[in-house]
Amino acid sequence: MVVSSQVATTSPTPAYICPFDRTCSYLNQAAAELGMDPNILVILEHPRKVVTVSIPVKLDNGKVQILAGHRVQHCDVLGPYKGGTRYHPTVNLGELSALAMLMTWKCALLGIPYGGAKGGIAIDPAQYSVGELERLTRRYTSELIKDIGPAIDIPAPDIGTSSREMAWMMDTYSMNMGHAVLGVVTGKPLSIGGSKGRDMATGRGVMITVREALLEKGQTLEGVTIAIQGFGKVGGAAAQLLHEAGAKIIAVSDAFGGVFDANGLDIPALQSHVNNQKTVVGFPGSDSISNAELLTLPCDVLIPAALEDQITEDNADRIQAKLVAEAANAPITLIADQILETRGITVLPDILANAGGVVVSYLEWVQGQSFLFWDEKRVNREMEKLLRNAYHRVSQHSQQRSVSLRLAAYTLGVGRVSQAMKDRGLYP
Ligand code: GLU
Repeated sequence: MVVSSQVATTSPTPAYICPFDRTCSYLNQAAAELGMDPNILVILEHPRKVVTVSIPVKLDNGKVQILAGHRVQHCDVLGPYKGGTRYHPTVNLGELSALAMLMTWKCALLGIPYGGAKGGIAIDPAQYSVGELERLTRRYTSELIKDIGPAIDIPAPDIGTSSREMAWMMDTYSMNMGHAVLGVVTGKPLSIGGSKGRDMATGRGVMITVREALLEKGQTLEGVTIAIQGFGKVGGAAAQLLHEAGAKIIAVSDAFGGVFDANGLDIPALQSHVNNQKTVVGFPGSDSISNAELLTLPCDVLIPAALEDQITEDNADRIQAKLVAEAANAPITLIADQILETRGITVLPDILANAGGVVVSYLEWVQGQSFLFWDEKRVNREMEKLLRNAYHRVSQHSQQRSVSLRLAAYTLGVGRVSQAMKDRGLYP
């Protein structure tokens, strides 16, 4: 495939299929399921626009460093592009193209009027001071000034960015426009048009989809054992909400290592430990465990909530959970996904399981565009309605067609985009 070779990431093993090719492979399976027009398929296999800008940033030591800032815009047939801004050393165009495409299917599946995009800079934000991060974020935003906007492309937080970076992006864009533009980014602080409930939204969506999947099997969250890889914005929030709902979180991890307690970790106490120590490691009363060990623990539900490519052909046959919920984007490789399916392990796909974040981003954008802000109850209610509805449509399709939840989710998302393309026609 032309684009895949243009954007391919490095291959750790010969059998490795990069996230972009993997997403294209799922797209092709959905296209076959839909009997889709090959002319529409070929368009959807390619991002519409790939922008790379040079970011000169003055470091605190007086030197200027040049960084490359990217934004990949996959498809805007349903509405403005939407997607996060990632600051992480592994950021590259292949990864961003895959993540942008995932955003297209995620928004379409959830029925929110956006297309997919993703941006980022290959840096470790921990190596930069707050002042340096502010300067590079502002320059990145101003270099992209014509490519973003409330009706064009709406960035949001992702790995390595938060409401702080969104405030700098919103301010930079607004200063250039000459007036406050609330709708240019989502995931903003509440003081400048952020939405109540946005912080916890992705984790809440994970909790809701896991709960619905268990309910369909006649189970509740009470006493269910869960291991979570990642204890950041997504994994931490999911852990808190699942713990409050009665689940037993037996293990969590972060970049430094993991902690395990067969009786269930005290999540609020662990959160205070993390607030002080900046890591879960060393949490009193727990046993230490590696990230790799966490993934293969005996448990009911496994939630990868960190980076891509965590469940691979090397560990897929040792996964013991009955349900895997993809809180991260693309945490399971293509071959691992096939292994899990053959082993009868249910996978809640990323475009469904982690969609709570972009759903509340949409609700934030709607509130900003109408200058009317809702209380948290209403935000959570609207989000839950959209997510539950999407879960049940996916589950029903999966049962009717005897396909995995992933293929069902892709088929519904891709189907909506393809119908819109058919209705709009090919320009000119
Ligand atoms: N970065 C998040 C995701 O991957 C949120 C994107 C958004 O809110 O636009 O879904």
